[in-house]
Amino acid sequence: MNLLTEKFYIDGKWVESDSGKTVTIINPANGQILANVHQASKEQIKQAIAAADKAFKETWGPMPAIQRSRIMHKIANLINENIEGLSAIETNNVGKPIIESRNVDIPGAADTFEFFANVSVDILGNTIPSPFGNAVMDYTIREPLGVIGAITPWNFPLLLAARKIATSIAAGNTIVIKPASLTPLSTLALGKIFDAAGLPAGVVNIVTASGRDIGEAFASSTTIHEVTFTGSTSTGTELMRQCASSRIPCTLELGGKSPAVICEDCDVEEAVAGTLFGVFINQGECCCGLTRLIVHQNVYDEFTSKFVSAAKKIRVGNPMDEKTQMGPVVDAGHLETVMEYIDSGKSQGATLACGGIRLAGDEFAKGFFVEPTVFTNVTPDMRIWREEIFGPVVTITKAKDNDELIELANDTDYGLAASIWTKNLKTAHWMSAKIEAGTVWFNLHNFLFPAAPYCGFKASGVGGELGKQSLIAMTKTKNVMINLMQDTFKWY
Ligand code: ADP
Repeated sequence: MNLLTEKFYIDGKWVESDSGKTVTIINPANGQILANVHQASKEQIKQAIAAADKAFKETWGPMPAIQRSRIMHKIANLINENIEGLSAIETNNVGKPIIESRNVDIPGAADTFEFFANVSVDILGNTIPSPFGNAVMDYTIREPLGVIGAITPWNFPLLLAARKIATSIAAGNTIVIKPASLTPLSTLALGKIFDAAGLPAGVVNIVTASGRDIGEAFASSTTIHEVTFTGSTSTGTELMRQCASSRIPCTLELGGKSPAVICEDCDVEEAVAGTLFGVFINQGECCCGLTRLIVHQNVYDEFTSKFVSAAKKIRVGNPMDEKTQMGPVVDAGHLETVMEYIDSGKSQGATLACGGIRLAGDEFAKGFFVEPTVFTNVTPDMRIWREEIFGPVVTITKAKDNDELIELANDTDYGLAASIWTKNLKTAHWMSAKIEAGTVWFNLHNFLFPAAPYCGFKASGVGGELGKQSLIAMTKTKNVMINLMQDTFKWY
Protein backbone atom coordinates (compact mmCIF):
# COMPACT_ATOMS: atom_id res chain seq x y z
CA MET A 1 0.00 0.00 0.00
CA ASN A 2 1.30 3.47 -0.86
CA LEU A 3 1.10 5.15 2.52
CA LEU A 4 2.67 8.50 1.73
CA THR A 5 0.41 11.43 0.99
CA GLU A 6 0.64 15.21 1.10
CA LYS A 7 -3.12 15.76 1.16
CA PHE A 8 -5.35 15.77 4.19
CA TYR A 9 -8.42 13.64 4.78
CA ILE A 10 -11.96 15.02 5.14
CA ASP A 11 -15.18 13.03 4.73
CA GLY A 12 -13.31 10.07 3.25
CA LYS A 13 -11.69 12.22 0.53
CA TRP A 14 -8.08 13.32 0.05
CA VAL A 15 -8.11 17.10 -0.10
CA GLU A 16 -5.69 19.88 -1.09
CA SER A 17 -5.46 23.20 0.67
CA ASP A 18 -7.90 25.69 -0.81
CA SER A 19 -5.40 28.45 -0.05
CA GLY A 20 -2.54 26.49 -1.63
CA LYS A 21 -0.58 26.61 1.65
CA THR A 22 1.82 23.73 2.35
CA VAL A 23 4.31 22.93 5.10
CA THR A 24 7.64 21.30 4.26
CA ILE A 25 8.36 18.18 6.29
CA ILE A 26 12.02 17.48 7.03
CA ASN A 27 13.89 14.33 8.00
CA PRO A 28 15.68 15.41 11.21
CA ALA A 29 18.50 12.92 10.61
CA ASN A 30 19.71 14.49 7.36
CA GLY A 31 17.65 17.59 6.58
CA GLN A 32 16.11 16.01 3.47
CA ILE A 33 12.65 17.09 2.42
CA LEU A 34 10.14 14.28 2.94
CA ALA A 35 6.96 16.01 1.74
CA ASN A 36 5.12 19.28 1.32
CA VAL A 37 1.92 18.77 3.24
CA HIS A 38 -1.23 20.74 2.45
CA GLN A 39 -2.62 22.93 5.21
CA ALA A 40 -6.34 23.22 5.79
CA SER A 41 -7.87 26.69 5.86
CA LYS A 42 -10.30 27.72 8.60
CA GLU A 43 -13.15 26.97 6.19
CA GLN A 44 -11.79 23.47 5.54
CA ILE A 45 -11.48 22.81 9.29
CA LYS A 46 -15.18 23.69 9.56
CA GLN A 47 -15.94 21.26 6.72
CA ALA A 48 -14.09 18.51 8.62
CA ILE A 49 -16.14 19.17 11.77
CA ALA A 50 -19.36 19.16 9.69
CA ALA A 51 -18.36 15.85 8.04
CA ALA A 52 -17.71 14.30 11.47
CA ASP A 53 -21.08 15.56 12.71
CA LYS A 54 -22.88 14.08 9.69
CA ALA A 55 -21.11 10.72 10.09
CA PHE A 56 -21.95 10.69 13.79
CA LYS A 57 -25.64 11.26 13.10
CA GLU A 58 -26.04 9.11 10.00
CA THR A 59 -23.58 6.20 10.00
CA TRP A 60 -21.23 5.65 12.92
CA GLY A 61 -23.43 6.75 15.83
CA PRO A 62 -26.38 4.50 14.93
CA MET A 63 -24.19 1.52 13.88
CA PRO A 64 -24.35 -1.50 16.25
CA ALA A 65 -21.23 -1.72 18.40
CA ILE A 66 -20.29 -5.15 17.05
CA GLN A 67 -20.08 -3.77 13.49
CA ARG A 68 -17.95 -0.86 14.61
CA SER A 69 -15.75 -3.30 16.47
CA ARG A 70 -15.23 -5.44 13.35
CA ILE A 71 -14.05 -2.41 11.36
CA MET A 72 -11.66 -1.45 14.15
CA HIS A 73 -10.22 -4.98 14.14
CA LYS A 74 -9.60 -4.61 10.40
CA ILE A 75 -7.77 -1.34 11.09
CA ALA A 76 -5.58 -3.10 13.69
CA ASN A 77 -4.79 -5.91 11.25
CA LEU A 78 -3.94 -3.50 8.44
CA ILE A 79 -1.58 -1.55 10.70
CA ASN A 80 0.20 -4.80 11.53
CA GLU A 81 0.35 -5.79 7.85
CA ASN A 82 1.94 -2.42 7.02
CA ILE A 83 4.36 -2.35 9.90
CA GLU A 84 7.45 -1.87 7.75
CA GLY A 85 6.03 1.00 5.69
CA LEU A 86 4.62 2.80 8.71
CA SER A 87 7.83 2.30 10.71
CA ALA A 88 9.91 3.85 7.92
CA ILE A 89 7.58 6.85 7.72
CA GLU A 90 7.70 7.35 11.50
CA THR A 91 11.46 7.00 11.75
CA ASN A 92 12.16 9.29 8.80
CA ASN A 93 9.81 11.95 10.11
CA VAL A 94 10.52 11.85 13.86
CA GLY A 95 14.11 10.60 13.96
CA LYS A 96 13.41 7.72 16.35
CA PRO A 97 15.44 4.53 15.77
CA ILE A 98 13.77 2.07 13.41
CA ILE A 99 13.93 -0.63 16.10
CA GLU A 100 11.68 1.57 18.25
CA SER A 101 9.15 2.34 15.49
CA ARG A 102 8.98 -1.31 14.52
CA ASN A 103 8.76 -2.77 18.02
CA VAL A 104 7.00 -0.07 20.03
CA ASP A 105 5.16 2.63 18.10
CA ILE A 106 3.51 0.79 15.23
CA PRO A 107 2.55 -2.48 16.98
CA GLY A 108 1.44 -0.34 19.92
CA ALA A 109 -0.92 1.56 17.60
CA ALA A 110 -2.36 -1.74 16.30
CA ASP A 111 -2.77 -3.05 19.87
CA THR A 112 -4.61 0.12 20.80
CA PHE A 113 -7.20 -0.35 18.03
CA GLU A 114 -7.50 -4.02 18.98
CA PHE A 115 -8.02 -3.40 22.69
CA PHE A 116 -10.64 -0.69 22.18
CA ALA A 117 -12.36 -2.79 19.48
CA ASN A 118 -12.68 -5.55 22.08
CA VAL A 119 -14.02 -3.42 24.91
CA SER A 120 -16.28 -1.36 22.65
CA VAL A 121 -18.88 -4.15 22.77
CA ASP A 122 -18.84 -4.09 26.56
CA ILE A 123 -19.95 -0.54 27.37
CA LEU A 124 -22.60 -1.21 29.99
CA GLY A 125 -25.31 0.74 31.70
CA ASN A 126 -26.94 -0.03 35.06
CA THR A 127 -30.37 -0.99 36.27
CA ILE A 128 -31.18 1.20 39.25
CA PRO A 129 -33.48 -0.13 42.00
CA SER A 130 -36.37 2.33 42.19
CA PRO A 131 -38.08 3.38 45.42
CA PHE A 132 -41.40 2.54 43.71
CA GLY A 133 -40.75 -1.21 43.48
CA ASN A 134 -41.90 -2.82 40.26
CA ALA A 135 -44.06 0.20 39.41
CA VAL A 136 -41.14 2.14 38.06
CA MET A 137 -38.12 0.72 36.33
CA ASP A 138 -34.94 2.74 35.91
CA TYR A 139 -31.85 2.08 33.87
CA THR A 140 -28.94 3.93 32.36
CA ILE A 141 -27.34 3.66 28.97
CA ARG A 142 -24.06 5.11 27.87
CA GLU A 143 -24.30 7.17 24.71
CA PRO A 144 -21.43 8.52 22.65
CA LEU A 145 -20.60 12.19 23.16
CA GLY A 146 -20.66 13.22 19.48
CA VAL A 147 -17.75 14.85 17.62
CA ILE A 148 -14.34 14.78 19.32
CA GLY A 149 -11.60 17.29 18.50
CA ALA A 150 -8.10 15.85 18.93
CA ILE A 151 -4.64 17.42 18.83
CA THR A 152 -1.46 15.35 19.01
CA PRO A 153 2.26 16.13 19.47
CA TRP A 154 5.33 15.14 17.47
CA ASN A 155 7.03 12.58 19.72
CA PHE A 156 4.83 9.48 19.19
CA PRO A 157 2.67 10.62 16.28
CA LEU A 158 1.01 7.37 15.24
CA LEU A 159 0.75 5.81 18.69
CA LEU A 160 -0.87 8.90 20.22
CA ALA A 161 -3.18 9.41 17.23
CA ALA A 162 -4.24 5.76 17.61
CA ARG A 163 -5.08 6.33 21.28
CA LYS A 164 -7.28 9.32 20.57
CA ILE A 165 -8.97 7.85 17.49
CA ALA A 166 -9.52 4.37 18.93
CA THR A 167 -11.09 5.55 22.20
CA SER A 168 -13.28 8.06 20.39
CA ILE A 169 -14.66 5.80 17.69
CA ALA A 170 -14.94 2.71 19.91
CA ALA A 171 -17.49 4.62 21.97
CA GLY A 172 -19.43 5.55 18.81
CA ASN A 173 -18.07 9.09 18.45
CA THR A 174 -16.55 10.60 15.33
CA ILE A 175 -13.38 12.68 15.34
CA VAL A 176 -11.38 15.47 13.75
CA ILE A 177 -7.70 15.00 14.52
CA LYS A 178 -4.82 17.37 13.93
CA PRO A 179 -1.31 15.88 14.00
CA ALA A 180 1.67 18.02 15.03
CA SER A 181 2.81 20.26 12.17
CA LEU A 182 6.32 18.74 12.24
CA THR A 183 5.23 15.10 12.05
CA PRO A 184 1.95 14.57 10.18
CA LEU A 185 3.00 11.77 7.81
CA SER A 186 2.13 8.64 9.80
CA THR A 187 -1.24 10.02 10.93
CA LEU A 188 -2.08 10.86 7.30
CA ALA A 189 -0.97 7.33 6.34
CA LEU A 190 -3.53 6.05 8.83
CA GLY A 191 -6.17 7.61 6.58
CA LYS A 192 -5.08 5.18 3.82
CA ILE A 193 -5.57 2.34 6.29
CA PHE A 194 -9.05 3.63 7.20
CA ASP A 195 -9.97 3.67 3.50
CA ALA A 196 -8.78 0.09 3.08
CA ALA A 197 -10.60 -1.06 6.23
CA GLY A 198 -13.91 0.34 4.97
CA LEU A 199 -14.33 2.92 7.72
CA PRO A 200 -17.32 5.04 6.64
CA ALA A 201 -16.56 8.54 5.32
CA GLY A 202 -16.35 11.29 7.94
CA VAL A 203 -15.84 9.04 10.97
CA VAL A 204 -12.18 10.08 11.22
CA ASN A 205 -11.06 13.33 9.60
CA ILE A 206 -7.32 14.02 9.62
CA VAL A 207 -6.63 17.70 9.22
CA THR A 208 -3.19 19.23 8.85
CA ALA A 209 -3.52 22.83 9.95
CA SER A 210 -1.97 25.38 12.25
CA GLY A 211 -2.40 24.64 15.96
CA ARG A 212 -3.85 28.08 16.60
CA ASP A 213 -6.49 27.73 13.83
CA ILE A 214 -7.55 24.29 14.97
CA GLY A 215 -7.67 25.29 18.65
CA GLU A 216 -9.90 28.25 17.85
CA ALA A 217 -12.10 26.18 15.52
CA PHE A 218 -12.64 23.47 18.16
CA ALA A 219 -13.21 25.90 21.00
CA SER A 220 -15.78 27.96 19.10
CA SER A 221 -17.66 25.04 17.52
CA THR A 222 -21.13 24.09 18.67
CA THR A 223 -20.70 20.56 17.29
CA ILE A 224 -17.48 19.61 19.12
CA HIS A 225 -18.38 17.77 22.34
CA GLU A 226 -14.94 17.10 23.80
CA VAL A 227 -11.38 18.18 23.06
CA THR A 228 -8.56 15.76 23.72
CA PHE A 229 -5.06 17.21 23.62
CA THR A 230 -1.55 15.90 24.14
CA GLY A 231 1.26 18.43 24.20
CA SER A 232 2.88 21.06 26.35
CA THR A 233 1.35 22.23 29.62
CA SER A 234 1.25 25.85 28.43
CA THR A 235 -0.58 25.13 25.13
CA GLY A 236 -2.97 22.67 26.80
CA THR A 237 -3.84 25.16 29.53
CA GLU A 238 -4.52 27.89 26.97
CA LEU A 239 -6.69 25.51 24.93
CA MET A 240 -8.72 24.61 28.02
CA ARG A 241 -9.24 28.31 28.72
CA GLN A 242 -10.55 28.80 25.16
CA CYS A 243 -12.83 25.76 25.42
CA ALA A 244 -14.30 26.98 28.73
CA SER A 245 -16.15 29.79 26.94
CA SER A 246 -18.15 27.18 24.98
CA ARG A 247 -18.29 24.73 27.92
CA ILE A 248 -16.41 22.09 25.92
CA PRO A 249 -14.74 19.60 28.28
CA CYS A 250 -11.05 18.86 27.75
CA THR A 251 -8.85 15.86 28.37
CA LEU A 252 -5.25 16.99 28.60
CA GLU A 253 -2.12 14.87 28.59
CA LEU A 254 0.65 17.33 29.31
CA GLY A 255 4.29 17.55 30.32
CA GLY A 256 6.32 15.64 32.86
CA LYS A 257 9.52 15.69 34.90
CA SER A 258 9.49 12.10 36.01
CA PRO A 259 11.79 10.95 38.82
CA ALA A 260 13.44 7.59 39.45
CA VAL A 261 13.87 6.83 43.13
CA ILE A 262 16.96 4.65 43.44
CA CYS A 263 16.90 3.00 46.88
CA GLU A 264 19.95 1.70 48.72
CA ASP A 265 18.70 -1.90 48.44
CA CYS A 266 18.13 -1.85 44.68
CA ASP A 267 19.81 -4.20 42.25
CA VAL A 268 22.21 -1.59 40.81
CA GLU A 269 22.76 -3.35 37.48
CA GLU A 270 19.00 -3.67 36.96
CA ALA A 271 18.44 -0.05 38.00
CA VAL A 272 21.10 1.21 35.57
CA ALA A 273 19.71 -0.80 32.64
CA GLY A 274 16.10 0.12 33.39
CA THR A 275 16.67 3.80 33.98
CA LEU A 276 18.78 4.13 30.81
CA PHE A 277 15.75 2.88 28.89
CA GLY A 278 13.56 5.26 30.90
CA VAL A 279 15.73 8.25 30.02
CA PHE A 280 16.97 7.77 26.48
CA ILE A 281 14.27 5.92 24.55
CA ASN A 282 12.94 8.18 21.78
CA GLN A 283 15.89 10.57 22.38
CA GLY A 284 14.30 11.50 25.72
CA GLU A 285 11.38 13.04 23.84
CA CYS A 286 8.88 11.26 26.00
CA CYS A 287 6.26 12.85 28.30
CA CYS A 288 6.67 10.18 30.96
CA GLY A 289 10.40 9.71 30.31
CA LEU A 290 12.85 9.82 33.19
CA THR A 291 14.51 13.16 33.72
CA ARG A 292 15.60 13.15 37.37
CA LEU A 293 17.47 10.25 38.95
CA ILE A 294 17.45 10.57 42.73
CA VAL A 295 19.87 8.18 44.31
CA HIS A 296 20.37 7.05 47.92
CA GLN A 297 23.78 8.16 49.14
CA ASN A 298 24.83 4.56 49.92
CA VAL A 299 24.63 3.53 46.24
CA TYR A 300 25.19 6.94 44.66
CA ASP A 301 28.80 6.45 43.55
CA GLU A 302 28.32 2.95 42.18
CA PHE A 303 25.05 3.79 40.40
CA THR A 304 26.36 7.06 38.95
CA SER A 305 29.60 5.66 37.57
CA LYS A 306 27.82 2.67 35.99
CA PHE A 307 25.03 4.85 34.58
CA VAL A 308 27.44 7.37 33.04
CA SER A 309 29.66 4.71 31.48
CA ALA A 310 26.58 2.97 30.00
CA ALA A 311 25.19 6.28 28.67
CA LYS A 312 28.47 6.92 26.86
CA LYS A 313 28.07 3.61 25.00
CA ILE A 314 24.63 4.37 23.52
CA ARG A 315 24.99 4.22 19.73
CA VAL A 316 23.78 7.50 18.24
CA GLY A 317 23.38 7.64 14.47
CA ASN A 318 21.23 7.20 11.39
CA PRO A 319 17.88 6.09 12.83
CA MET A 320 17.17 3.87 9.80
CA ASP A 321 20.21 1.77 10.74
CA GLU A 322 19.13 -1.36 12.65
CA LYS A 323 21.98 -0.94 15.11
CA THR A 324 21.21 2.67 16.03
CA GLN A 325 20.00 3.15 19.59
CA MET A 326 19.38 6.90 19.53
CA GLY A 327 18.49 9.25 16.68
CA PRO A 328 18.36 13.04 16.28
CA VAL A 329 15.98 15.35 18.13
CA VAL A 330 12.98 16.39 16.08
CA ASP A 331 14.07 19.67 14.48
CA ALA A 332 16.47 22.60 14.54
CA GLY A 333 14.31 24.66 16.89
CA HIS A 334 14.10 21.86 19.42
CA LEU A 335 17.84 21.21 19.14
CA GLU A 336 18.39 24.84 20.12
CA THR A 337 16.06 24.47 23.14
CA VAL A 338 17.87 21.33 24.34
CA MET A 339 21.29 22.96 23.91
CA GLU A 340 20.10 26.03 25.86
CA TYR A 341 19.10 23.76 28.75
CA ILE A 342 22.51 22.09 28.65
CA ASP A 343 24.16 25.53 28.80
CA SER A 344 21.94 26.53 31.72
CA GLY A 345 22.98 23.37 33.62
CA LYS A 346 26.62 24.23 33.14
CA SER A 347 26.22 27.87 34.07
CA GLN A 348 24.13 27.09 37.15
CA GLY A 349 26.89 24.87 38.52
CA ALA A 350 25.87 21.27 37.72
CA THR A 351 28.68 18.85 36.78
CA LEU A 352 28.54 17.61 33.18
CA ALA A 353 29.35 13.91 33.60
CA CYS A 354 29.02 13.04 29.92
CA GLY A 355 27.65 14.34 26.61
CA GLY A 356 26.51 17.94 26.42
CA ILE A 357 27.45 18.55 22.81
CA ARG A 358 25.79 18.56 19.42
CA LEU A 359 27.36 15.79 17.37
CA ALA A 360 29.36 16.96 14.37
CA GLY A 361 31.09 15.16 11.49
CA ASP A 362 29.95 13.49 8.27
CA GLU A 363 27.21 11.26 9.59
CA PHE A 364 25.77 13.98 11.79
CA ALA A 365 26.45 17.16 9.83
CA LYS A 366 22.96 17.74 8.45
CA GLY A 367 20.97 16.30 11.36
CA PHE A 368 20.05 17.42 14.87
CA PHE A 369 22.00 14.96 17.02
CA VAL A 370 22.75 15.52 20.70
CA GLU A 371 25.02 13.25 22.72
CA PRO A 372 23.36 11.42 25.61
CA THR A 373 23.89 13.92 28.42
CA VAL A 374 24.16 13.32 32.17
CA PHE A 375 24.48 16.03 34.81
CA THR A 376 25.46 15.24 38.39
CA ASN A 377 25.48 17.50 41.47
CA VAL A 378 22.13 18.85 40.40
CA THR A 379 20.16 20.85 42.95
CA PRO A 380 16.45 21.80 42.96
CA ASP A 381 17.10 25.47 42.19
CA MET A 382 18.45 24.62 38.72
CA ARG A 383 16.36 24.92 35.56
CA ILE A 384 17.46 21.45 34.43
CA TRP A 385 15.81 20.08 37.60
CA ARG A 386 12.59 22.10 37.35
CA GLU A 387 11.76 22.45 33.64
CA GLU A 388 10.83 19.90 31.01
CA ILE A 389 13.74 19.57 28.56
CA PHE A 390 12.25 16.83 26.36
CA GLY A 391 15.61 15.63 25.09
CA PRO A 392 18.43 13.18 25.93
CA VAL A 393 19.39 14.97 29.14
CA VAL A 394 19.11 13.60 32.68
CA THR A 395 20.05 14.84 36.13
CA ILE A 396 21.42 12.79 39.03
CA THR A 397 20.93 14.00 42.62
CA LYS A 398 22.00 12.43 45.91
CA ALA A 399 19.53 11.86 48.79
CA LYS A 400 20.47 10.99 52.37
CA ASP A 401 17.57 8.64 53.21
CA ASN A 402 14.20 7.32 51.99
CA ASP A 403 12.30 10.37 53.22
CA GLU A 404 14.53 12.68 51.23
CA LEU A 405 14.23 10.43 48.16
CA ILE A 406 10.45 10.93 48.20
CA GLU A 407 10.65 14.61 49.07
CA LEU A 408 12.91 15.26 46.07
CA ALA A 409 10.81 13.04 43.78
CA ASN A 410 7.73 15.14 44.57
CA ASP A 411 9.60 18.44 44.26
CA THR A 412 8.06 19.23 40.87
CA ASP A 413 4.94 20.86 39.44
CA TYR A 414 4.43 17.76 37.30
CA GLY A 415 2.97 14.37 38.25
CA LEU A 416 2.90 12.10 35.23
CA ALA A 417 5.05 9.11 36.18
CA ALA A 418 7.76 7.86 38.53
CA SER A 419 9.70 4.69 39.15
CA ILE A 420 11.00 3.11 42.34
CA TRP A 421 14.04 0.87 42.24
CA THR A 422 14.26 -1.48 45.22
CA LYS A 423 14.23 -5.18 46.04
CA ASN A 424 12.06 -4.52 49.07
CA LEU A 425 8.34 -4.82 48.36
CA LYS A 426 7.40 -2.97 51.54
CA THR A 427 9.57 0.01 50.65
CA ALA A 428 8.14 0.03 47.14
CA HIS A 429 4.53 0.06 48.35
CA TRP A 430 5.19 2.64 51.04
CA MET A 431 6.86 4.91 48.52
CA SER A 432 4.28 4.46 45.78
CA ALA A 433 1.58 5.68 48.17
CA LYS A 434 3.60 8.84 48.81
CA ILE A 435 4.53 9.59 45.22
CA GLU A 436 2.41 12.18 43.43
CA ALA A 437 2.20 10.68 39.95
CA GLY A 438 -0.43 8.99 37.81
CA THR A 439 1.81 6.03 36.97
CA VAL A 440 4.29 4.40 39.35
CA TRP A 441 6.56 1.60 38.18
CA PHE A 442 8.62 -0.74 40.39
CA ASN A 443 11.95 -1.70 38.84
CA LEU A 444 10.67 -0.65 35.41
CA HIS A 445 10.06 2.59 33.51
CA ASN A 446 8.22 3.62 30.32
CA PHE A 447 6.14 0.45 29.96
CA LEU A 448 2.60 1.22 28.80
CA PHE A 449 -0.15 -0.89 27.27
CA PRO A 450 -3.70 -0.06 26.20
CA ALA A 451 -5.56 -1.73 29.09
CA ALA A 452 -3.55 0.13 31.76
CA PRO A 453 -4.82 3.66 32.54
CA TYR A 454 -2.44 6.56 31.99
CA CYS A 455 -3.32 9.78 33.85
CA GLY A 456 -1.29 12.84 34.73
CA PHE A 457 -1.52 14.34 38.21
CA LYS A 458 -0.74 18.00 39.04
CA ALA A 459 0.41 20.01 35.97
CA SER A 460 0.70 16.82 33.90
CA GLY A 461 -2.91 16.55 32.91
CA VAL A 462 -6.65 16.63 33.27
CA GLY A 463 -8.51 13.34 32.90
CA GLY A 464 -6.63 10.40 31.48
CA GLU A 465 -6.06 8.11 28.56
CA LEU A 466 -5.97 4.35 28.02
CA GLY A 467 -7.73 1.72 30.08
CA LYS A 468 -11.42 1.00 29.84
CA GLN A 469 -12.12 4.08 31.94
CA SER A 470 -10.94 6.31 29.07
CA LEU A 471 -13.54 4.68 26.82
CA ILE A 472 -16.25 5.30 29.38
CA ALA A 473 -15.09 8.92 29.58
CA MET A 474 -15.93 9.19 25.87
CA THR A 475 -19.60 8.51 26.66
CA LYS A 476 -22.35 10.28 28.55
CA THR A 477 -24.92 8.72 30.85
CA LYS A 478 -28.57 8.78 29.93
CA ASN A 479 -31.04 7.80 32.63
CA VAL A 480 -34.25 6.15 31.43
CA MET A 481 -37.27 5.73 33.68
CA ILE A 482 -40.30 3.62 32.71
CA ASN A 483 -43.78 3.75 34.15
CA LEU A 484 -44.98 0.17 34.79
CA MET A 485 -47.81 1.13 37.16
CA GLN A 486 -50.99 -0.92 36.99
CA ASP A 487 -53.13 2.19 37.58
CA THR A 488 -52.90 5.55 35.86
CA PHE A 489 -50.67 7.93 37.77
CA LYS A 490 -52.77 10.89 38.87
CA TRP A 491 -51.52 13.65 41.14
CA TYR A 492 -54.44 16.06 40.63
P1 ADP B 1 5.43 21.08 21.42
O1 ADP B 1 5.98 22.47 21.44
O2 ADP B 1 6.11 20.14 22.33
O3 ADP B 1 5.14 20.56 20.04
P2 ADP B 1 2.77 22.03 21.71
O4 ADP B 1 1.88 21.98 22.90
O5 ADP B 1 3.15 23.36 21.21
O6 ADP B 1 4.02 21.16 22.12
O7 ADP B 1 2.17 21.21 20.50
C1 ADP B 1 1.32 20.10 20.65
C2 ADP B 1 0.23 20.18 19.62
O8 ADP B 1 -0.55 21.35 19.86
C3 ADP B 1 0.72 20.30 18.18
O9 ADP B 1 -0.13 19.55 17.34
C4 ADP B 1 0.60 21.78 17.92
O10 ADP B 1 0.45 22.10 16.55
C5 ADP B 1 -0.69 22.10 18.68
N1 ADP B 1 -0.86 23.52 19.01
C6 ADP B 1 0.05 24.50 19.04
N2 ADP B 1 -0.53 25.68 19.38
C7 ADP B 1 -1.84 25.44 19.58
C8 ADP B 1 -2.98 26.24 19.97
N3 ADP B 1 -2.87 27.53 20.21
N4 ADP B 1 -4.18 25.62 20.08
C9 ADP B 1 -4.29 24.31 19.85
N5 ADP B 1 -3.27 23.50 19.50
C10 ADP B 1 -2.06 24.04 19.36
